[in-house]
Amino acid sequence: MINKLSQKNSLSKKHTQSYRQYFALNRNVAGFNTQKKELIYTLVSDKSDGAFIWDIDNNKYIDLTMGFGSVLFGHNYMPIRKEIEAQLAKSWSVGPISPLAGKLAEKIATTTKTERVAFFNSGTEAVMVAIRIAKAITKKKYVVFFKGAYHGTFDSLLAIKKNSQTNIAIESIPGITQSILNESYLFEYGSKESLNFIRKNKDKIAAVLVEPVQSRNPSFQPISYLKELRNVTEQNDIALIFDEVITGFRINIGGCQKHFNIWADIVTYGKVIGGGLPIGIVAGKSKFLDALDGGSWQYGDYSFPQVKSTFVAGTFCHHPLAMVASLKTLEILDSYNGKMLQELNNKTAKFCLRMNAYFKEYCPKLSIVHFGSLFRFVTPGRYKELYSQLLLNGVYVWEGRNCFFSEAHTEEVIASLEEKIKLSCRQLIERSISKTKI
Ligand code: PMP
Repeated sequence: MINKLSQKNSLSKKHTQSYRQYFALNRNVAGFNTQKKELIYTLVSDKSDGAFIWDIDNNKYIDLTMGFGSVLFGHNYMPIRKEIEAQLAKSWSVGPISPLAGKLAEKIATTTKTERVAFFNSGTEAVMVAIRIAKAITKKKYVVFFKGAYHGTFDSLLAIKKNSQTNIAIESIPGITQSILNESYLFEYGSKESLNFIRKNKDKIAAVLVEPVQSRNPSFQPISYLKELRNVTEQNDIALIFDEVITGFRINIGGCQKHFNIWADIVTYGKVIGGGLPIGIVAGKSKFLDALDGGSWQYGDYSFPQVKSTFVAGTFCHHPLAMVASLKTLEILDSYNGKMLQELNNKTAKFCLRMNAYFKEYCPKLSIVHFGSLFRFVTPGRYKELYSQLLLNGVYVWEGRNCFFSEAHTEEVIASLEEKIKLSCRQLIERSISKTKI
């Protein structure tokens, strides 16, 4: 397999090698081990359309990565591309505020039933700001977050272990020092222990940050726990933050808030709503968003910003190209009145059912889990080789392994995908029989 893939992806590997000295890209060492060294590279591609990408060797793949979940309608989607091109012809300058930003804020607020909205460049930035405004308004310091969640790369959330006595997140990544983590408390998602801790330390906790359905564990959907979290935070002046960077505008237009009918204080969005361009959004109750600008006031009277503001800024925060792509994304989603996402979710559920039936019969260690149109293969031990086998057979899954269907994944594309998965599975088993047991 190593030889075959090295041949197939020879230009991607050559490209990776020739720039490595200058281009420090962590994805090029993801999962590094000396035995699999030859398989450690990221596919290099500059062509995509619909549900497909092409690498620089001109191999075509069914794309399951879909811009890490940022591309909902398919690559190179004409209605969005046209809006971006039209805006490009007008202006892509920043400095003054684009007239599109206010309009988009209003549309997002009404669509997501939030009161106010602010724009940033990435999900990471949105999460960072959400925590900052929670601390500013509650005047408390601690943040509770959960194992298994991914919230981007904000320093105070980059920990996977905790002190078993204090529950303080402990340093495990070079550069993330303990003092940065000392206000971060890490718990098992869904645990009673976390609820007890929150009740006991209510006077110190500013925010509970939760990825309502974790992309790394999408079949775990703890609705009653989330309801309890909502109650305990509401009763104790703690901001409940939903990180909906993946689930927002995907599970349905109102995200997990609407899906579970549980309403957070602050919500972060990104990915889908940017129509494929960089965006991060903080939305939520005025009580918290007012920390960004002091709250609402009018000209021509004696009103003034009443809330003491914290500080945020960013050169590209309301980039006109991102604003226009977002507006078009919302307009398209609106025009389907929820049906498009529902159908995409159903399509994914049926695909997972069929694949799981196949796996049960022919490869019982493998399975697929999903939440709406996000899914993941469960690949214990050496079954992780499935991803290389898929690549060989023309299916692209990135190193983080979250998979997404888009509107462009038609029944025909999915039927072809299923054949490729089955073939990969058979090859995996054949290879393992000819070697050792897997
Ligand atoms: N939150 C969640 C739930 C995410 O999945 C991600 C990225 N995958 C982020 C935050 C960070 O977003 P970004 O990569 O745009 O910084």
